Amino acid sequence: MRIYDVSLPITGNLPSWPGDPKIIIDRFSKIEQGADANVTQISMCVHVGTHVDAPFHFLGGDALTVERLPLNVLTGRAYVLQIPNEIDSISADVLKQAQIAPRTRRLLFKTRNSALWLRPDAEFRRDFVAISADGAQFLVEHGIKLVGIDYLSVAPFNAPIQTHRILLQAGVAIVEGLDLSKVSPGRYSMYCLPLKIAGADGAPARVILIGV
Ligand SMILES: [Zn+2]
Repeated sequence: MRIYDVSLPITGNLPSWPGDPKIIIDRFSKIEQGADANVTQISMCVHVGTHVDAPFHFLGGDALTVERLPLNVLTGRAYVLQIPNEIDSISADVLKQAQIAPRTRRLLFKTRNSALWLRPDAEFRRDFVAISADGAQFLVEHGIKLVGIDYLSVAPFNAPIQTHRILLQAGVAIVEGLDLSKVSPGRYSMYCLPLKIAGADGAPARVILIGV
Protein backbone atom coordinates (compact mmCIF):
# COMPACT_ATOMS: atom_id res chain seq x y z
CA MET A 1 0.00 0.00 0.00
CA ARG A 2 1.49 3.31 -1.07
CA ILE A 3 0.48 6.39 0.88
CA TYR A 4 0.88 9.77 -0.82
CA ASP A 5 0.88 12.72 1.54
CA VAL A 6 -0.54 15.51 -0.61
CA SER A 7 -0.52 18.09 2.20
CA LEU A 8 1.89 21.00 2.33
CA PRO A 9 4.21 21.34 5.30
CA ILE A 10 3.11 24.41 7.27
CA THR A 11 6.00 26.81 7.67
CA GLY A 12 6.28 30.51 8.29
CA ASN A 13 7.30 30.91 4.64
CA LEU A 14 4.32 29.37 2.87
CA PRO A 15 2.71 31.81 0.47
CA SER A 16 -0.47 33.20 1.95
CA TRP A 17 -3.36 35.08 0.46
CA PRO A 18 -2.65 38.82 0.08
CA GLY A 19 -4.06 40.61 3.11
CA ASP A 20 -4.22 37.50 5.32
CA PRO A 21 -2.22 37.55 8.55
CA LYS A 22 1.30 36.18 8.61
CA ILE A 23 1.90 32.59 9.67
CA ILE A 24 3.63 32.56 13.05
CA ILE A 25 5.00 29.34 14.48
CA ASP A 26 6.70 30.22 17.74
CA ARG A 27 8.36 27.71 20.05
CA PHE A 28 8.01 29.76 23.19
CA SER A 29 9.27 27.08 25.58
CA LYS A 30 12.67 25.60 24.69
CA ILE A 31 14.50 22.65 26.26
CA GLU A 32 17.84 24.12 25.16
CA GLN A 33 17.01 27.20 27.20
CA GLY A 34 16.26 25.19 30.34
CA ALA A 35 12.54 24.53 29.89
CA ASP A 36 11.07 21.11 30.76
CA ALA A 37 9.56 20.74 27.32
CA ASN A 38 9.45 22.25 23.86
CA VAL A 39 6.07 23.94 23.33
CA THR A 40 4.97 25.81 20.22
CA GLN A 41 2.24 28.35 19.64
CA ILE A 42 0.79 28.91 16.18
CA SER A 43 -1.06 31.88 14.76
CA MET A 44 -2.39 31.75 11.23
CA CYS A 45 -5.39 32.07 8.98
CA VAL A 46 -7.38 28.83 8.64
CA HIS A 47 -6.95 29.05 4.85
CA VAL A 48 -3.23 28.39 5.00
CA GLY A 49 -1.52 25.57 3.10
CA THR A 50 -3.63 22.49 2.51
CA HIS A 51 -7.07 23.28 3.87
CA VAL A 52 -10.81 22.86 3.55
CA ASP A 53 -13.32 25.66 2.91
CA ALA A 54 -16.60 25.36 4.79
CA PRO A 55 -19.84 26.74 3.28
CA PHE A 56 -19.80 29.46 5.97
CA HIS A 57 -16.68 30.90 4.26
CA PHE A 58 -18.64 32.35 1.33
CA LEU A 59 -22.29 31.90 2.33
CA GLY A 60 -22.30 33.16 5.91
CA GLY A 61 -25.54 33.02 7.90
CA ASP A 62 -26.26 29.53 9.18
CA ALA A 63 -24.23 27.74 6.50
CA LEU A 64 -22.14 24.81 7.75
CA THR A 65 -18.96 25.57 9.62
CA VAL A 66 -15.97 23.32 9.23
CA GLU A 67 -16.43 21.03 12.23
CA ARG A 68 -19.82 19.96 10.86
CA LEU A 69 -18.65 18.92 7.38
CA PRO A 70 -19.64 15.31 6.69
CA LEU A 71 -16.63 13.00 6.91
CA ASN A 72 -18.18 10.64 4.38
CA VAL A 73 -17.73 13.37 1.76
CA LEU A 74 -14.15 14.11 2.82
CA THR A 75 -13.23 10.44 2.76
CA GLY A 76 -13.56 7.85 0.00
CA ARG A 77 -12.71 7.17 -3.63
CA ALA A 78 -11.19 10.11 -5.47
CA TYR A 79 -9.99 10.70 -9.00
CA VAL A 80 -6.91 12.77 -9.82
CA LEU A 81 -7.41 14.46 -13.19
CA GLN A 82 -4.44 15.88 -15.08
CA ILE A 83 -5.18 19.28 -16.57
CA PRO A 84 -2.74 20.04 -19.42
CA ASN A 85 -0.14 22.69 -18.61
CA GLU A 86 -1.37 25.12 -21.24
CA ILE A 87 -4.84 25.35 -19.65
CA ASP A 88 -5.30 28.55 -17.60
CA SER A 89 -8.90 28.05 -16.52
CA ILE A 90 -10.85 24.89 -15.74
CA SER A 91 -13.98 25.80 -17.66
CA ALA A 92 -17.04 23.76 -18.64
CA ASP A 93 -15.45 23.28 -22.09
CA VAL A 94 -12.26 21.91 -20.57
CA LEU A 95 -14.27 19.57 -18.35
CA LYS A 96 -16.43 18.32 -21.25
CA GLN A 97 -13.28 17.19 -23.03
CA ALA A 98 -11.62 15.76 -19.95
CA GLN A 99 -11.57 12.02 -19.35
CA ILE A 100 -13.19 11.95 -15.93
CA ALA A 101 -13.66 8.38 -14.74
CA PRO A 102 -17.33 7.34 -14.58
CA ARG A 103 -19.07 7.65 -11.17
CA THR A 104 -16.41 10.05 -9.90
CA ARG A 105 -17.68 11.91 -6.82
CA ARG A 106 -14.39 13.36 -5.57
CA LEU A 107 -12.31 15.10 -8.20
CA LEU A 108 -8.83 16.48 -7.64
CA PHE A 109 -7.30 18.71 -10.29
CA LYS A 110 -3.61 18.31 -10.94
CA THR A 111 -2.61 21.40 -12.89
CA ARG A 112 0.63 23.23 -13.58
CA ASN A 113 0.06 24.75 -10.11
CA SER A 114 1.50 21.62 -8.51
CA ALA A 115 4.93 22.46 -9.91
CA LEU A 116 4.86 25.66 -7.83
CA TRP A 117 5.16 23.54 -4.67
CA LEU A 118 8.62 22.40 -5.71
CA ARG A 119 9.51 25.76 -4.16
CA PRO A 120 7.04 25.93 -1.26
CA ASP A 121 8.50 29.19 0.08
CA ALA A 122 7.94 31.09 -3.19
CA GLU A 123 5.92 34.30 -3.33
CA PHE A 124 2.14 34.12 -3.69
CA ARG A 125 1.12 33.80 -7.36
CA ARG A 126 -1.98 35.44 -8.79
CA ASP A 127 -1.84 33.58 -12.11
CA PHE A 128 -2.71 30.15 -10.69
CA VAL A 129 -5.02 27.77 -12.58
CA ALA A 130 -8.53 27.76 -11.11
CA ILE A 131 -12.10 26.73 -11.85
CA SER A 132 -14.33 29.17 -13.73
CA ALA A 133 -17.95 29.75 -12.71
CA ASP A 134 -19.25 27.63 -15.61
CA GLY A 135 -16.72 24.95 -14.68
CA ALA A 136 -18.12 24.93 -11.14
CA GLN A 137 -21.65 24.64 -12.53
CA PHE A 138 -20.57 21.70 -14.67
CA LEU A 139 -19.14 19.92 -11.63
CA VAL A 140 -22.34 20.42 -9.63
CA GLU A 141 -24.47 19.15 -12.53
CA HIS A 142 -22.29 16.07 -12.85
CA GLY A 143 -22.73 15.03 -9.24
CA ILE A 144 -19.27 15.94 -7.93
CA LYS A 145 -19.31 16.11 -4.12
CA LEU A 146 -15.71 17.14 -3.45
CA VAL A 147 -13.35 19.28 -5.49
CA GLY A 148 -9.63 19.61 -4.82
CA ILE A 149 -7.19 22.04 -6.39
CA ASP A 150 -3.42 22.37 -6.18
CA TYR A 151 -3.19 26.06 -5.28
CA LEU A 152 -4.72 28.23 -2.60
CA SER A 153 -8.12 28.81 -4.20
CA VAL A 154 -10.58 26.92 -6.41
CA ALA A 155 -11.55 30.28 -7.91
CA PRO A 156 -9.52 32.65 -10.08
CA PHE A 157 -7.72 35.40 -8.16
CA ASN A 158 -9.75 38.18 -9.74
CA ALA A 159 -13.13 36.44 -9.42
CA PRO A 160 -13.19 34.59 -6.11
CA ILE A 161 -16.87 34.70 -5.26
CA GLN A 162 -18.88 32.90 -7.92
CA THR A 163 -16.96 29.63 -8.14
CA HIS A 164 -16.93 29.27 -4.35
CA ARG A 165 -20.64 30.09 -4.02
CA ILE A 166 -21.76 27.70 -6.75
CA LEU A 167 -19.83 24.83 -5.20
CA LEU A 168 -20.59 25.57 -1.55
CA GLN A 169 -24.29 26.22 -2.15
CA ALA A 170 -24.53 22.79 -3.78
CA GLY A 171 -22.84 21.17 -0.78
CA VAL A 172 -19.62 20.41 -2.67
CA ALA A 173 -16.65 20.17 -0.32
CA ILE A 174 -13.65 22.29 -1.33
CA VAL A 175 -10.07 21.27 -0.63
CA GLU A 176 -7.37 23.79 -1.52
CA GLY A 177 -3.59 23.88 -1.40
CA LEU A 178 -3.02 20.25 -2.42
CA ASP A 179 0.45 19.27 -3.59
CA LEU A 180 -0.18 16.75 -6.36
CA SER A 181 3.29 17.06 -7.88
CA LYS A 182 4.25 13.49 -6.94
CA VAL A 183 0.93 11.85 -7.71
CA SER A 184 -0.02 10.32 -11.06
CA PRO A 185 -3.50 10.83 -12.47
CA GLY A 186 -5.95 8.07 -11.63
CA ARG A 187 -8.00 6.55 -8.85
CA TYR A 188 -7.14 6.70 -5.15
CA SER A 189 -8.69 6.38 -1.73
CA MET A 190 -8.70 9.82 -0.18
CA TYR A 191 -8.62 10.78 3.47
CA CYS A 192 -9.06 14.48 4.16
CA LEU A 193 -9.29 15.38 7.83
CA PRO A 194 -9.64 19.09 8.60
CA LEU A 195 -8.99 20.20 12.16
CA LYS A 196 -12.21 20.31 14.15
CA ILE A 197 -12.23 24.05 14.81
CA ALA A 198 -15.67 24.95 16.11
CA GLY A 199 -17.45 27.70 14.21
CA ALA A 200 -14.65 28.17 11.68
CA ASP A 201 -15.03 28.97 7.96
CA GLY A 202 -12.25 26.54 7.09
CA ALA A 203 -9.46 24.50 8.60
CA PRO A 204 -6.04 23.15 7.73
CA ALA A 205 -6.22 19.49 6.79
CA ARG A 206 -3.94 16.52 6.46
CA VAL A 207 -4.80 14.88 3.18
CA ILE A 208 -3.52 11.52 2.03
CA LEU A 209 -4.17 9.48 -1.06
CA ILE A 210 -3.74 5.73 -1.12
CA GLY A 211 -3.29 3.94 -4.42
CA VAL A 212 -6.11 1.50 -5.21
ZN1 LIG B 1 -9.88 28.52 1.52
